[in-house]
Amino acid sequence: MATERNPHAGLPFSDDDATIAAALEDVCVPALMCSMVHMTGDPSWIRGEIRPRVAILNNYESGLTAEELAEIRSHAVPVIAQWRDAGCPEPQVPSPELVKELMDFMAAAPVNPAVVPMFADDLHFDGADSGAITWKDEIRADVRNAFHVVVIGCGESGLLTGIRLDQAGIPYTIIEKTDGPGGTWRDNRYPGARVDIGSHFYCYSFEPSDHWSEYFCRQPELRAYFERVMRKYRVDEKCRFNTEVTQATWNEATATWSVEVRTLDGRTDVIEANVVVSGTGALNAPRMPDIAGMEEFNGPSFHSARWPDGLDLAGKRVAQIGAGASGFQISPTIADEVAHLDIYQRTAQWMFPNMNYHREVPEGDVWAMRHLPFYARWFRFLMFYPASGLSIEGSRVDPTWHDPEGRSISQASFERRTIFENWITSHLEGRPDLVEKSMPHYPPSAKRMLQDNGSWLKCLMKPNVELIKTGIERVTADGVVTDDGEFRAADVIIYATGFRHNDYLFPMTIIGRDGINLREQFGDEPTAYLGISIPNFPNLFCLYGPGTNLAHGASLIFQSECQVNYVMSAIHELLSTGRRAMEPKLEVHDKYVEIYESEINQMVWAHPTVKHSHFKNKDGKIYTLSPWPIPDYWEWTRKVNADEYDFV
Ligand SMILES: Cc1cc2nc3c(=O)[nH]c(=O)nc-3n(C[C@H](O)[C@H](O)[C@H](O)COP(=O)(O)OP(=O)(O)OC[C@H]3O[C@@H](n4cnc5c(N)ncnc54)[C@H](O)[C@@H]3O)c2cc1C
Repeated sequence: MATERNPHAGLPFSDDDATIAAALEDVCVPALMCSMVHMTGDPSWIRGEIRPRVAILNNYESGLTAEELAEIRSHAVPVIAQWRDAGCPEPQVPSPELVKELMDFMAAAPVNPAVVPMFADDLHFDGADSGAITWKDEIRADVRNAFHVVVIGCGESGLLTGIRLDQAGIPYTIIEKTDGPGGTWRDNRYPGARVDIGSHFYCYSFEPSDHWSEYFCRQPELRAYFERVMRKYRVDEKCRFNTEVTQATWNEATATWSVEVRTLDGRTDVIEANVVVSGTGALNAPRMPDIAGMEEFNGPSFHSARWPDGLDLAGKRVAQIGAGASGFQISPTIADEVAHLDIYQRTAQWMFPNMNYHREVPEGDVWAMRHLPFYARWFRFLMFYPASGLSIEGSRVDPTWHDPEGRSISQASFERRTIFENWITSHLEGRPDLVEKSMPHYPPSAKRMLQDNGSWLKCLMKPNVELIKTGIERVTADGVVTDDGEFRAADVIIYATGFRHNDYLFPMTIIGRDGINLREQFGDEPTAYLGISIPNFPNLFCLYGPGTNLAHGASLIFQSECQVNYVMSAIHELLSTGRRAMEPKLEVHDKYVEIYESEINQMVWAHPTVKHSHFKNKDGKIYTLSPWPIPDYWEWTRKVNADEYDFV
């Protein structure tokens, strides 16, 4: 019987040599070299003098010279042609030793053996989706069918949960308050919205990634991606759109949740669930500022995540209040269209120079991702490895380091800062006023690092753009007045002021065991074991919950894959043992939180020079971010440890 070809082994092709040669001009050469090893079984491709010298995020050439790149490309063309002529045979699964050697090559340094399993899993050499649920038949159908899971939200995490529940044969309903999937990528339709983690990493590990049109693709493409994935796995059949969960109450006697929902037209309903999975996201509820006179403004004014369809900004005077991650993308996109743009920015942002940020994926690279064995997987590794938090030590404040200005946390941080400072000053030549306004007064990475290919800084230099650092006193019917009394007219106000990050599961009312209200338990210091499960709230699991946001550059979709894996393991534990409910032991949760607090407080994000950060609560403490390297979190979330839970 013919076995199925590994989907990452390269789609067979018959293109001529010239097409191959042209395609190779566009490829990432280090990933090509790994692909050549798979194709030929010959490791000498990665054993020569030509090898990556650096593994820096968004540097696809890894420090190879132009001559070296050309040499590899010209060697590869006839070999690929030979492989084509042989019918593109499927490569052998490489030995663990060779896999390690390939990783060391791509990482430009020996990879810690402890983290190899996670990356090997993600490379999919056996073609299998390692997160796919394979235990369906272990559980009797009547037991499965008597179980029901409610998933709140159909962003990437809720959608993923639906895919896994379906594989497990467990009935479920996804309740989504908007009219479609995608969450963040449905809501944030502002001009310029795009991902700032490479698209080939910011996608499901088990779905092809050869279709992205840009290396950091824009919102419409992401939204379409989630629509497509939803339909492919028929998750839409289990979705109730335009329906919001307002409350969930734990019922001790039945060990079920009563989930109260309200449709757009105001009808209410109650759904019983054995398990509730919250996929409500951490950046879903817009945070509006509290500025006097906001309601008096006569023109359109809106939060960046509520961009009005069809809004025409041509010839308008626009006030953009806020220039964090969203504002940073909006201004350069609208600056040429508007008559005038006032950007009100409280805190200057550090930015990471990234010339690939707006770059289209060239045809040849798409070809390689489709046809060359494991090329796309190694390209993904190139994004994943440097962003996996393995260098998280670089985010830890060195207690022996002294910087009187508080603008660096260690020698390495000081060196990074110099590079970033040079990037800013080199783009703002002749404008010392802008340099002063644009230079952050805190260490690099202490807030979310933004990606810049020069577009933000060029935008600031435009004659119709003004960067205003003075605080806002009030909004009037036709403009904005700053603390120094200056009035600036505006036809439109954009509030790019971020989200209620610390208010997990807002604004739902969640009542757990003994009538405990989750909001009261959380207060301003929300915590959950592994960011997923919460004492007093049996059978409630959070995705992207407290302490799981990533500031070290990894993909939250991969983080969701870890969390959903854990949730499915918990459900398996319940179904396979006949227990009805589980919640983390208080001492397990408390110990976790103790270590969490100790770790996060040593990190750059907690640095006292950062006065305003959506990562921090009102007391300046952090309960939003993960201080863990991804391989650790991957390990911890592979399987529920039953000893850590109390069961009913
Ligand atoms: C502008 C922006 C850019 C970002 N860029 C990146 C990036 O480059 N890389 C990265 O890794 N992350 C990024 N993020 C973080 C992003 O939120 C996550 O990557 C990811 O989208 C989270 O998915 P999610 O499914 O957990 O939550 P979301 O995408 O927020 O989805 C939550 C869903 O739950 C629904 N919902 C909420 N409450 C209810 C309720 N009571 N009842 C019913 N439905 C409800 C919402 O309508 C929404 O559809 C960005 C976030 C924003 C806001």
